Amino acid sequence: MADPTRTSYDEEMEEIDIEAERPSYDDRDIEVQLFDAVRDAAAFPVEPVRLTAEDTFSFRCHKDQPCWNKCCHGADITLTPYCILRLSRRLKVSPSEFLAAYTVPAMHEKADLPIAKIKTGGEDGRGACPFNTPDGCSVYEDRPATCRYYPLGMVSMKMKDMEGKEDFYFLVKESHCCGHQDGKVQNVGEYRTEQALVEYDRVNRGWVDLLMKMASWKVMGGPMGQAPTTQTKKMFFMATTDVETFRRFVFESRFLHTYEIDPEAVELIKTDDEALLLLGQDWLKNILFNEPTILLREQVLHEAIAKARSDMGAA
Ligand code: SF4
Ligand code: SF4
Repeated sequence: MADPTRTSYDEEMEEIDIEAERPSYDDRDIEVQLFDAVRDAAAFPVEPVRLTAEDTFSFRCHKDQPCWNKCCHGADITLTPYCILRLSRRLKVSPSEFLAAYTVPAMHEKADLPIAKIKTGGEDGRGACPFNTPDGCSVYEDRPATCRYYPLGMVSMKMKDMEGKEDFYFLVKESHCCGHQDGKVQNVGEYRTEQALVEYDRVNRGWVDLLMKMASWKVMGGPMGQAPTTQTKKMFFMATTDVETFRRFVFESRFLHTYEIDPEAVELIKTDDEALLLLGQDWLKNILFNEPTILLREQVLHEAIAKARSDMGAA
């Protein structure tokens, strides 16, 4: 008999095989390219020079440049989770309203996971960004990460013999951009601070990790040789683009009965959208890659082990 207290979220949860055996990444090289994740890197001329936070480059963008606003036309801009949060707050709409009005759904080609891109104007989609005005960006204080990074890209690497990840940067030089001439010399670290990128990277890093880990497993058909199901991809999109829907999922499904979440954290994610995005990234790392980023409740674990034993015909 159907359980009247079950929600559609419960059914969605059950379709995700949280107990499947999953691979380890410890013995793999991983390269995380933020620029690649947020913009079509192949379409841009990239200087093949690795820059560290201390290296300098020359660049200045201002309204008197003859190229003013050119870069806001035909831009292929993927929105990170934090970009969507900031822009929907800025425009005083819900994330789902923002997604419907200003974005188009797309697949991240390398990872084969769903993402959202800014919907640009023009019949061929190569027109102006909806936030572009003759005076510049109408959402400047909350502009997306890729607009902040430009003309830099960021790569995070973890080689199998390295303890942690290493970040480095590279410069993009497009012929129409005059910002490289007569520029202001600054180092990469100063530029990231000036562009308020530290908070963006803090909230988005887990999402970039997920994309690039999935990309690194794609040649093997996905984690455990299996591509994520359509349902898992839907859950990925929900948890990385729409905090309001993800919050309902967490509090109205059996999520909190399934996972061991610290009571203080439960209180926090009732109102803190950034914390909820981080929890979503931890959850996705666990269900996609078996990372110990979120723990199953002991009772759920025992039930899952008992079910696995029963499925294998054990007594
Ligand atoms: S969000 Fe702003 S800076 Fe970015 S492309 Fe659109 S108008 Fe330009
Ligand atoms: S200088 Fe470069 S970044 Fe600034 S408006 Fe011109 S094309 Fe865009």
